[in-house]
Amino acid sequence: AAQAEAEGVFWRAASINRDQLERSVSLMGELDAAIAAGQIEVHYQPKLALSSNRIASVEALVRWRHPQRGMVPPDAFIPLAEQSDRIGTLTLHVLGIVLRDAARWRDAGHRLTAAVNISAKLLTSPAFTSAADALLDDAPVALDALIFEVTESAAMADADAAVATLHHFRARGIAISMDDYGTGQSTLSYLQRLPLSELKIDRRFVQFAHERDADAALVRSTIELAHALRLTVVAEGIEEAETLALLTTLRCDYAQGYFISRPLAYDQLIVRLADADEPTGTRMSG
Ligand code: C2E
Ligand code: MG
Ligand code: MG
Ligand code: MG
Repeated sequence: AAQAEAEGVFWRAASINRDQLERSVSLMGELDAAIAAGQIEVHYQPKLALSSNRIASVEALVRWRHPQRGMVPPDAFIPLAEQSDRIGTLTLHVLGIVLRDAARWRDAGHRLTAAVNISAKLLTSPAFTSAADALLDDAPVALDALIFEVTESAAMADADAAVATLHHFRARGIAISMDDYGTGQSTLSYLQRLPLSELKIDRRFVQFAHERDADAALVRSTIELAHALRLTVVAEGIEEAETLALLTTLRCDYAQGYFISRPLAYDQLIVRLADADEPTGTRMSG
């Protein structure tokens, strides 16, 4: 009975029901086989440079093409992978795909940087750092074509080891981007301590900025703060033309969101880049 009660507490704490728990446990059991079978895919969401109206960068977003469950989004397995220590393996796999794809688009004549999301948890793992270093040593592209996106987390602000890891990757030429800015904690101490190049304003502030004055004020002051610190700024979650126009007026550097493009499979990205070669204005997709 005590065990059943403990399990009950666990399910509540995780705010998932028994079915979801069983699905989760089985998903993690399948992860290695899924990697081996090529079911883990990376899609790329463009970041549009607002000064040139050109796709300057793409963010790598992982997907699991599951044979029974269909396309599984990252929110359904990244947190599980973090809890079960599978996140290192998964991230290294994603990084490997991105490096290979980046060499392919470079060889096709496209110039763009690629961002990879790195869980804060990995920044305190020496095993992850050395495995990533080994991959980066053999990278087919220059490392200044890479960006690591990290989110603010309370754990990271205090962890000297995490800060040191970011400095290590920065010293290798990889740009560091603060993802989901404004939703985490200790934001000002982060801006001082981390070797950042870029700040991404979370979509909850961006999405309605064209119709909510308070959101617009936060976005405007965040852009000013970032520029004062010589960081480039990305607004994520642009879903409408009005928002894009506002962010352009506010001198935001990059914009990302469904209005510009959904995340694209590699082949779709190449088509989109070829289309964009003649700069005839922003296209919509998706
Ligand atoms: P994120 O890094 O903040 O990525 C942005 C998410 O917002 C993506 O969802 C993207 O598809 C979605 N999005 C982009 N534009 C819009 C928009 O205009 N409106 C709305 N409503 N959503 C938009 P996705 O691909 O489901 O990824 C969710 C999260 O999963 C990511 O948030 C990131 O934290 C995590 N993630 C994805 N791939 C990886 C990965 O390879 N490693 C790690 N550690 N985390 C990953
Ligand atoms: Mg991101
Ligand atoms: Mg984000
Ligand atoms: Mg996010």
